[in-house]
Amino acid sequence: MKDTYRHKGLRNQLVQEIKRKGITDTKVLEAIDTVPRHYFFDSAFTEQAYDDKPFPIASGQTISQPFTVAFQTQLLEVQPGDKILEIGTGSGYQAAVLSVLKAKTYTIERQKELFHFSQKTIRQMGYKRIHFFYGDGYKGQPAYGPYDKILITCGAPSLPEKLVEQLKPSGFLVAPIGSGNIQEMYRYIKNEDGSLTEEKHGSFSFVPMLKGTNE
Ligand code: SAH
Repeated sequence: MKDTYRHKGLRNQLVQEIKRKGITDTKVLEAIDTVPRHYFFDSAFTEQAYDDKPFPIASGQTISQPFTVAFQTQLLEVQPGDKILEIGTGSGYQAAVLSVLKAKTYTIERQKELFHFSQKTIRQMGYKRIHFFYGDGYKGQPAYGPYDKILITCGAPSLPEKLVEQLKPSGFLVAPIGSGNIQEMYRYIKNEDGSLTEEKHGSFSFVPMLKGTNE
């Protein structure tokens, strides 16, 4: 697949659109401007890659809406070298955005097909510092923790305890919480004594965070 001037132009329009919708972090906007989102789409659908919309991918899952990716990334306040745990690799697009921001990303997916597909895409694109795991995100990945930031990209019915344990003091955990079709975006900040300060950041709609793996 190629990244043509047309794709770059469409991507730039998308960046202007999410800026109008309230994304202010210039590093995040630059990252969205950098990552060719159409590489994560089946070649029949690349025309839709620069609409600010979620889109179906394999295994009945979705690639999140660009605004949502930018919004969650902005809440993470990514610093170069941050160790970030992502729950829900999906297409791998969010992980690519974190790679552009120079984070070290550990990403978990429970659908085998997506676990393979996302790695293949990311390898072809050449993004570095991304480690892929097939497993249940509810368990996190304690062997590589604790993490500076944790990002959940599926709707969690409640805040998963094991993930809180794997967050560093002063770390951020960004997660859509809620069991219905609509979740509330939360940012939790871990205090030195282990308690959490929580902030609410509006309503979003994600595919559900499910228990176990698909096999
Ligand atoms: N970050 C992704 C968004 C994918 S949608 C992207 O940029 O494309 C959310 C993903 O979370 C789905 O792929 C779904 O399979 C996955 N998921 C749901 N429950 C999970 C769990 N318990 N552990 C790991 N991944 C999970």
